[in-house]
Amino acid sequence: MIKPLKAQNILVTGGSRGIGAAIVRRLAYDGANVGFTYSRSDTAAAELTQMLTAEGATVKAYHADAARPQDMPALVDRFIEDFGRLDVLVNNAGVFSGAHIGEIDAAEYKRVMQINVEALFMLTNAAAGAMQAGSRIVNISSVLGERAAVAGLSLYNASKFAVTGFSRSWAQDLGPRGILVNAVQPGPINTEMNPEDGEKADQMKQQTALGRYGQPNEVAGVVAFLAGPDATYITGATVNVDGGWNA
Ligand code: NDP
Repeated sequence: MIKPLKAQNILVTGGSRGIGAAIVRRLAYDGANVGFTYSRSDTAAAELTQMLTAEGATVKAYHADAARPQDMPALVDRFIEDFGRLDVLVNNAGVFSGAHIGEIDAAEYKRVMQINVEALFMLTNAAAGAMQAGSRIVNISSVLGERAAVAGLSLYNASKFAVTGFSRSWAQDLGPRGILVNAVQPGPINTEMNPEDGEKADQMKQQTALGRYGQPNEVAGVVAFLAGPDATYITGATVNVDGGWNA
């Protein structure tokens, strides 16, 4: 059986844990050659690479800290040296931040904007020039990229509004070259960033129509679809994978 992403070379940021690791696994199972970045989780990155390689996939981990956006263009060069071509870029790496306006210090503003926005911009700006017609860019935004659902999240909200906004604008910029750009907006997904247990989590479950958290593989399946052969007429879209949070 031919796998849907066979011979596609895909770069995923923040692939060592959580949603990113589920995306790496799913794309590799679908036949893609996958490079992924990590910053701190060396062991998890090595284990994931080893596990998928043992199953016959081509997978490579890159240490690339998104808190150093200036390093992102070199990452594109390294990936192309290793894989020959970049077909799909999945911008997933991100950090969460919670504090009310008036209480956010400048260093925290810089950290969140560098990782969630500037690195994504620098990487895509370098990658876009190297991509061919038919290529895809998938940006992992958030349901909080279109709605300020609760207080105390303005910094994270603003960073994700930027991710969704860039996605739509880049769809316009790159459409004439046949490159498709979409945003995926997850709702509450069970990861280390947002574990599904506890009082806060129970409140979030109630805010979804389905009354539960999503699992990382439920996001990964949508990313695989947007990267794959059935998504040739979708660009500039924001796909909510949120159990109805933003319904
Ligand atoms: P996790 O914290 O569980 O995992 C984050 C991943 O991003 C890790 O692989 C981590 O790698 C990587 N990462 C973090 N900082 C950096 C950095 N400076 N440089 C490179 N990689 C980095 O988060 P999730 O899996 O939950 O989140 C993934 C994405 O999904 C994020 O963009 C997040 O905003 C978004 N999202 C998540 C939701 C949720 O409910 N979980 C909801 C909506 C959106 P390492 O450990 O090696 O640093």
